[in-house]
Amino acid sequence: MGNTPDVYAILKNELKGSEAEVLTPGSAGYAESIKRWSEHCEKKAQAVVKVTSSSDISKTLNFAQTNEIPFVVRGGGHSTSGSSSIDDGLVIDLSKMRKVAVDPKAKTIRAEGGTIWEDVDMEAAKFGLATVGGTVNHTDNLISVEIVLASGQLVTASESSHPDLFWAVRGAGQNFGVVTAFTFQGYDQPDPVFAGTLVFLPDKLPQIVRFVNKFHATSDGNQALLWGFSSPPPANAPVVLAQVFYNGSESAGQEFFTDLINLGPVANTTSMIPYEKLNGLLNHAVGFDGRKQFGGGAFKLPLNPAFVQSIHADFLDFVNSHERMNESLILFETIPFTKILEVSNEEMAFSNRGDYYNVATCFKWFDPSLDQEIRDFSRNLLKKASQSAGVVQDEKVRSVEGVGVYGNYANLDVSATDIYGRNAKKLEDLKYKYDPNNLFSRGLRLVPKPLVVVN
Ligand SMILES: Cc1cc2nc3c(=O)[nH]c(=O)nc-3n(C[C@H](O)[C@H](O)[C@H](O)COP(=O)(O)OP(=O)(O)OC[C@H]3O[C@@H](n4cnc5c(N)ncnc54)[C@H](O)[C@@H]3O)c2cc1C
Repeated sequence: MGNTPDVYAILKNELKGSEAEVLTPGSAGYAESIKRWSEHCEKKAQAVVKVTSSSDISKTLNFAQTNEIPFVVRGGGHSTSGSSSIDDGLVIDLSKMRKVAVDPKAKTIRAEGGTIWEDVDMEAAKFGLATVGGTVNHTDNLISVEIVLASGQLVTASESSHPDLFWAVRGAGQNFGVVTAFTFQGYDQPDPVFAGTLVFLPDKLPQIVRFVNKFHATSDGNQALLWGFSSPPPANAPVVLAQVFYNGSESAGQEFFTDLINLGPVANTTSMIPYEKLNGLLNHAVGFDGRKQFGGGAFKLPLNPAFVQSIHADFLDFVNSHERMNESLILFETIPFTKILEVSNEEMAFSNRGDYYNVATCFKWFDPSLDQEIRDFSRNLLKKASQSAGVVQDEKVRSVEGVGVYGNYANLDVSATDIYGRNAKKLEDLKYKYDPNNLFSRGLRLVPKPLVVVN
């Protein structure tokens, strides 16, 4: 594009009077600003614009269009697809927009676009509230978004305002604009919960799978069980991890998981904790060092213990034959889906609703020459792990039951149909309405050709 950093002096001038910052290579704070959760997503942007308001965002979008500068949006910087970083353009960085406001009467929570879940959890807890984020997508959880469109206009999207845009952003938001604030429904959560991690030696895997198979019938929606394989420090030896959650008393939690606890874990951190601490339980295991790659698939219960053992063997063989991959993880997320299925896949862009659970890989490594090999291995392993769900291979089942790939774990090597199923066509049509020049083109591609191309 032939832009030199000098062009950013114009942007700085346009943002005068605001607390926004325009960082270019050499500016104090620039190196920190291009850091991402995964090292392979760190790219040397021409400029990082730390915006503070929708007006800053509109001005920056306008500047990028006028000067034909490609851009990306950075929220929390955790994706492993690389879609929030850029080499040859600018980053609209939302990390200064993390305010959370709770309306205790309406029990709603308004979170600015750069908020991370910790901000939301902590502020909501002050009012005895919690909301649903991440893996569980409750029926009516997101009430509205405030979003700056490609035109620079700030609009509210909700069931009653731009409902078609609201349909699109619930699943495909990154393709439609910059969300400056989300308003979530809060739910009463005044009590602590029973949660923690059980660590088992791998010989317990068959019994663990048998316990999981029963979970499907025994859970009433107040429990969750995330279990999987890793070789975490300090021992760096293979273990089976089980993170348990029970929304109730300690005795009820102990009783629900008693068969698992009685298997004899080598470590057990379960206890009663405030709900807002739940999302932080695994923080120590997922720091900002190294290269990482998420991947997603689906599984159905019951699982055959021998089948799971063969996945474990494949995983271990691969991890053990490469340097410093011991912190890699495969996680079977056994989170009840009854509530999720109260909404159909047509009601919003998000299309991963089905009578199956998510399975995720999170590989961690340090040697850049392994990037492609790891991506390929992860894809194949997830294909195998997803066989039990039968959703990924069969187009007919897929459209009825959901796509079987969770968009938050997907990379950019999937198609719009892989993630949005039958909703892909409607999303394409809406792109022409709300972003006709495909300015928001760095995430998963919804339209055949981006007009502002990079790479
Ligand atoms: C340790 C860890 C645990 C995780 N656990 C879960 C989990 O339990 N459940 C789950 O669902 N996911 C989970 N994820 C996946 C996570 O949801 C995705 O990585 C997600 O993309 C992170 O969002 P981010 O804003 O931090 O990432 P970023 O890399 O900043 O952004 C991701 C994409 O969203 C766009 N974007 C971000 N903010 C905005 C905005 N305000 N407006 C418009 N576009 C925006 C970016 O442009 C980019 O395309 C986990 C990830 C990590 C690293």
